[in-house]
Amino acid sequence: MGRKRRGITAGLTAGLLGALLAVPVPGVSAGANPGVDASASAVAGVNARKDPVLPRYGTTKIDVRHYALDLTWAPATKRLTGTAKLTIKARQALTSFPLSLHGMSVKGVTTAGQKATFTRSGDRLTIKPHQRITKGTVFTTQISYSGKPKYLFGAEGTSEGWLPTARGAVALGEPVGSMTWFPLNNTPRDKATYLIAVTVPERLTAVSNGRLISNTTSPTGRTWRWKMNKPMAGYLATVAVGDYRRTTMTKQGIRYDSFVAKAASPNKKALKLLPKVIAQQQKWFGPHPFRDAGILVDLPRVRYALETQTRSFFPMFADEMTLVHEVAHQWYGNSVTPATWRDIWLNEGFATYAEWLWTAKHGGPTPAKQLRKHYKTVAWRPAPRGITITTLFSDPVYIRGAMTLQVIRERIGRPAFFKVLRAWAKQNQYGTVSTRDFKALVERISGKQVDDIFRDWLNTPKRPSAKYVK
Ligand SMILES: [Zn+2]
Repeated sequence: MGRKRRGITAGLTAGLLGALLAVPVPGVSAGANPGVDASASAVAGVNARKDPVLPRYGTTKIDVRHYALDLTWAPATKRLTGTAKLTIKARQALTSFPLSLHGMSVKGVTTAGQKATFTRSGDRLTIKPHQRITKGTVFTTQISYSGKPKYLFGAEGTSEGWLPTARGAVALGEPVGSMTWFPLNNTPRDKATYLIAVTVPERLTAVSNGRLISNTTSPTGRTWRWKMNKPMAGYLATVAVGDYRRTTMTKQGIRYDSFVAKAASPNKKALKLLPKVIAQQQKWFGPHPFRDAGILVDLPRVRYALETQTRSFFPMFADEMTLVHEVAHQWYGNSVTPATWRDIWLNEGFATYAEWLWTAKHGGPTPAKQLRKHYKTVAWRPAPRGITITTLFSDPVYIRGAMTLQVIRERIGRPAFFKVLRAWAKQNQYGTVSTRDFKALVERISGKQVDDIFRDWLNTPKRPSAKYVK
């Protein structure tokens, strides 16, 4: 997520904030996780059962392999009618399993083709299959639902979910907003491939992740079918319905397919810059992880950009630095995804570092200078790994995260550092990771021990020693 854009949201007028707060809020709160502190983070590895920052969402009982979503959106009534068919592997024997779904009315559920029962409690949809499912079984569950999807005003301080626009809507899901438009295992730990079909009135366009595989008309409207052929975390899924100007091209094996709302700035500079940004980042980080790329620009009520997989979202205008930031997330965050929200610095620190690399490449201060400048001015609390839901997108996650990378670079040297960045992207491609994995990789490639750096820069909520910036 783009940091600069969030700042504008924080400056909303009291009246607008009041309006935002009037919508239903998700079941998260500042005090959701008081028992976990930074010192406990060392044991919160990828096998931890609950997410340390958002413990109410996601389950480790199941592994969703694939989502096939068939959605119809009627702008006149603002109703969404959907069928979600999930291919699931049981990670343990199951008599029931939970998914997340906010609002919407569930019409029926089947598992393995048989009618299943279900209960709802808050954002939780618990499905009880007609018979026990044994561990390791791969099965399908189909959920039919409809209603007026809502958006949430999250405890992290911004709106997310199904966000209305003048002509349609844009769905933005970080961290838990995707549950406003489809039922999912709402944790970044569980990634899956997607087929997203959206039927809208003929005059509108429906955009999603990955590649457009068909676009057909019927008496009910036009159906846009999108295929995300590589695993994607649920928070990176998007649907946008609107009146867009489409720009397509193929360059260096990547299919570019961009959609800019006709009501927004044409974004000609960003459209031209995008392949250049990707080409440069491929030099730093290795091959672009996806065969598709593009930008999506529209005007919902939010002011932040989001790295929706393959096709990042920008509100109104994609400025150069935010474009660099969101493109870097395609490697760090989207292809290589932290298993828990506690490790979100692995997204935001890396994307911020990409901004620093880009700035230096174009005549600005070097990352070494950025480190020393921010050492004098940055907010030190919370430590990047001491975050709660309210500080999920706070400055230290971005700035201290990027500073950590520069401190590592100065310890292990430039060649080893870029080797680490590329190996991190390659070895963990399409997977999920933890901070512990990253530290192990740094030590393996460099042959140097970095305990002190990870302790002082990521886990300690105070300024690290000045010895690091001599
Ligand atoms: Zn970001």
